[in-house]
Amino acid sequence: MPNENIPMKNEDLESLLNIAVDAAKQSYSPYSNFRVGAAVISENRKIFSGCNIENRSYPAGICAEITAISKLISSGEKKICAIAVVGLDSDNFLPPCGVCRQFMTEFGNDFPVLMANKKMEYQIVSVAQLLPSDSLHDLKKYEIK
Ligand SMILES: [Zn+2]
Repeated sequence: MPNENIPMKNEDLESLLNIAVDAAKQSYSPYSNFRVGAAVISENRKIFSGCNIENRSYPAGICAEITAISKLISSGEKKICAIAVVGLDSDNFLPPCGVCRQFMTEFGNDFPVLMANKKMEYQIVSVAQLLPSDSLHDLKKYEIK
């Protein structure tokens, strides 16, 4: 169940998950064979999806979440309302990696993150739960007076 502070309906998030699944099928992951898809929805209800894209030089690869968010931002959208992430080959709910958590917090820390496994079972958390006390949103809390 979503956090009560998050104004997204479960059916909206499940639609986003279906789009993430389609994106994961486009994954370029010949090294890991681990297909990941993501879909984000903007405040204007525009949806963008992405997959992981690996490279023979491993650090040059890009995560599905960053692919999808980059498409949202580069299209002129400003705010993320939710993101769904799925691992088509994952037994576990697939959490975004640390870099993706950091990338997400740049655009908000209160939107829901749906994390799904290969059976389409999922868990929903907020970005703040994945990366508490990020420097953009909570810095003043730790200010020394
Ligand atoms: Zn990542």
